[in-house]
Amino acid sequence: MSAVIARRATHQVQIDHLTVGSEAPVVVQSMTNTDTADAAATAAQVKALADAGSEMVRITVNSPEAAAQVAEIRQRLDDMGCNTPLVGDFHFNGERLLQEFPDCARALSKYRINPGNVGKGAKGDEKFAYMIRTAAEYGKAVRIGVNWGSLDQSLAKRMMDANLTLAEPKAPEAVMKEALIVSALESAQKAVDLGLPENKIILSCKVSAVQDLIEVYRDLGRRCAYPLHLGLTEAGMGSKGIVASSAALAVLLQEGIGDTIRISLTPEPGAPRTQEVVVAQEILQTMGLRSFTPLVTACPGCGRTTSTVFQELARDIQQHLRDKMPQWRLAYPGVESLNVAVMGCVVNGPGESKLADIGISLPGTGETPVAPVYVDGERHVTLKGDNMAAEFLAIVENYVAVNYGEGGKKRRTAKVIPIAHG
Ligand code: SF4
Repeated sequence: MSAVIARRATHQVQIDHLTVGSEAPVVVQSMTNTDTADAAATAAQVKALADAGSEMVRITVNSPEAAAQVAEIRQRLDDMGCNTPLVGDFHFNGERLLQEFPDCARALSKYRINPGNVGKGAKGDEKFAYMIRTAAEYGKAVRIGVNWGSLDQSLAKRMMDANLTLAEPKAPEAVMKEALIVSALESAQKAVDLGLPENKIILSCKVSAVQDLIEVYRDLGRRCAYPLHLGLTEAGMGSKGIVASSAALAVLLQEGIGDTIRISLTPEPGAPRTQEVVVAQEILQTMGLRSFTPLVTACPGCGRTTSTVFQELARDIQQHLRDKMPQWRLAYPGVESLNVAVMGCVVNGPGESKLADIGISLPGTGETPVAPVYVDGERHVTLKGDNMAAEFLAIVENYVAVNYGEGGKKRRTAKVIPIAHG
């Protein structure tokens, strides 16, 4: 595992069984897109996100109908054996919903408050204070989540006006970035003054452009000791959203900035909501910060492999490993570090396969139609015929049971997943 650099010392925030901040592993979050008023659909999606590996799930709490169902959603999840903390996303009417639905206030593990959407002037201050006091009363954590698209306009105006009085005014973009940070820091200080302990506060300042996000979070990280929730807001759809999120988060995580992450992907129509969890996990795992799911090392293929056999096998193996993880996570601790190689021909196939825990080197075009399988660096068996995929999966299953089951030599015994932060 690689070491990150310049990790900030931050407070640790306890959210039920989860620890966020300081030396704790970077936590993966996601958000539902169901109508929270539909308790069955929302509980089912939270469960699916949790099964995919989301360690906290945010749900929108935007109406009395939604707030009325939050405790029911929590109960349904508990009944399914799912203890994933729920975060309530509040805008505009959060104080009223928390006041009218105390069951909702109790059932949530964390409140997300957007200072730009609480309200203006003294009325806004009152609403903010009510939400913070409710969090303090119930012992809940709060994320003060500032967003570029809903920045507190009175603060922005105040800072723009002050900038104009300077002998050398800054560019408006620079003032806006500073306003994002000031909004988060001033709101956090107000929350502390209202009685919320510092170790109950997480901050975020989300923007939608990669370089802006890096700049804002570097600055925010220097100026406070609160854990930071990291994510590129409105990242977009498909490869653009994945690449933009990865580019921004990789730079910041490498600098030790970011204690919990969410990938805000726009799902393709009909695509599973869980994709944002998979991307978040893969960013952390490919950076060597955490391990979640055995990964498949696969070559890109080239003119030496003209059939689709190896692409299909690589895809099927990765999907199989991911599908198995909800059960394997419990039965085979440590299996998330398993490394499987699926290679297309003899050029790099045997070498890469030997480096993996289990590897298969498929025959390239014109090669003898056999596939040597390597286990722990040694040639184990040679597969041939039409049933290679099933036979290889059986070898993987057996390897996992023997090595990560009770008494297995690769089974992890420590309770906490080690990470490279330091
Ligand atoms: S391992 Fe073989 S098939 Fe795969 S990219 Fe290299 S040369 Fe091409």
